[in-house]
Amino acid sequence: MSLPFAILEAIVGGENLLRSPEELYCYSFDASKMRSAPEGVVFPANAEQISAIVKLANEHRFALYPRGAGSGMVGACIPKGGLVLVTNRLKSILEIDGDNMIAVVEPGVITADFQEAVSKQGLFYPPDPASLAFSTMGGNVAMCSGGPRAVKYGVTRDYLLGLEVVLPTGELIRTGTRTMKGVVGYDLTRLMVGSEGTLGIFTRLVVRLLPAPQSVRTLTAGFEKLECAVNAVCQTLKARIIPSTMELMDQATICAVENHLHIGLPTLAEAMVLIEVDGPDAVLDEEVTRIEEICRGQGAIMTRKARSEEERKRLWLARRSISPALGRIRSGKINEDVTVPRTKVPELIRSIGSLAKKHELVIVCFGHAGDGNIHTNIMLDRKNEGERTRAGRAVEELFSIVLGLGGTISGEHGVGMAKSPFIEREVGSEGLEAMRRIKKALDPLNIMNPGKMFVADRTFIEGDFT
Ligand SMILES: Cc1cc2nc3c(=O)[nH]c(=O)nc-3n(C[C@H](O)[C@H](O)[C@H](O)COP(=O)(O)OP(=O)(O)OC[C@H]3O[C@@H](n4cnc5c(N)ncnc54)[C@H](O)[C@@H]3O)c2cc1C
Repeated sequence: MSLPFAILEAIVGGENLLRSPEELYCYSFDASKMRSAPEGVVFPANAEQISAIVKLANEHRFALYPRGAGSGMVGACIPKGGLVLVTNRLKSILEIDGDNMIAVVEPGVITADFQEAVSKQGLFYPPDPASLAFSTMGGNVAMCSGGPRAVKYGVTRDYLLGLEVVLPTGELIRTGTRTMKGVVGYDLTRLMVGSEGTLGIFTRLVVRLLPAPQSVRTLTAGFEKLECAVNAVCQTLKARIIPSTMELMDQATICAVENHLHIGLPTLAEAMVLIEVDGPDAVLDEEVTRIEEICRGQGAIMTRKARSEEERKRLWLARRSISPALGRIRSGKINEDVTVPRTKVPELIRSIGSLAKKHELVIVCFGHAGDGNIHTNIMLDRKNEGERTRAGRAVEELFSIVLGLGGTISGEHGVGMAKSPFIEREVGSEGLEAMRRIKKALDPLNIMNPGKMFVADRTFIEGDFT
């Protein structure tokens, strides 16, 4: 059905409503390869306008698609007709309360801007998706985003205390508290985290802050054997040192980056780790020395410690250059963010090696060894039909391997449309049915971001689904 544009215009003003095909095109995709245009796009200014739009959607029965920065990797904000609701006008940091170490923000605030604002007060907001320079706080909550710091600091859900949410039927509710403790009623805040825009639109977030760490120390090590690299990671944690980052690159990644940068990476090593510790200056030198000993004890063929900020940046250069380096191997890639218990990482990477051989594919693994989240990149030429088909099969088998190892098919990117055909394999039919019932109870007309999470009608979308 056609959208009630006159009423929408009355709610948000004509300048905050898009209708032309060129403009709609810009809101038809995210960072996945999927694409489908909406009928309209609105930019509400506040919770009241959002509530009015949601009530209108129920009355006129059109679908609503919440959208932050559109940086999602699984098509979670892609519309199928209907109305895209962009949160970028709700972009105020409303409060930073240093004494209680909390902050209140609107959902359209860019994560890096928020981190910078709190750091000016000596505070720290740890969640660090690689997209933090452009993704929004609301999008981060909706996808429960996380990054390298998860091994020590956890992910977005660990910092969210409360929300203001417009429910799919239009009511505005507040969940959670402004306190560390709070056990009154069901934990609706946790329910909303990772709900991918299907259970409501967040209009305010109350988040927890930490004191900013005093300093960091960084070290890299190369290992002849992958198992030794993972052993070094596990031994470090067992030694009661919790680094803020424990990144791993497999041999294919090391070679790709070395071919790209020519910085003398150990291409004979099966794996490299980059480990960073943060905290009080007084203990860091001791910790980093101990980690180096642990790496040597595991037979590291090289270790390098950063002695200055300049050297630290050089050590990070290899890790940060992975994406452009992989671009030289193939024009396209499928990036799966599978996660297994950290001790299973070697088994996972070896199995992925076998998958690559079996399907005649190049598969490159790197990621967050500390939390077992290994980005598995199946390199492909998207114009090569055979390669695409083989890659699709490899993805299915990869998920079986990961679930068999006690892992999850997504540690970071979520379900959206890309992984909706596989969700039942992880959560089971009864688990999925319980989720469906929650969705139905909160959104009886299926207004809010339909087609996500539960098996989507994917026939309408152009592009790749994996
Ligand atoms: C280069 C790159 C690197 C990335 N690295 C990481 C990473 O390290 N870790 C990681 O976890 N992810 C990563 N991502 C994925 C992505 O950035 C995250 O999922 C991010 O949180 C999405 O935020 P966004 O503002 O772009 O949301 P969008 O993509 O616009 O939307 C994502 C979902 O959130 C919903 N949503 C958005 N705002 C709201 C709101 N206010 N209320 C309710 N629902 C809402 C949408 O409906 C949709 O379902 C990366 C993406 C890119 C492109």
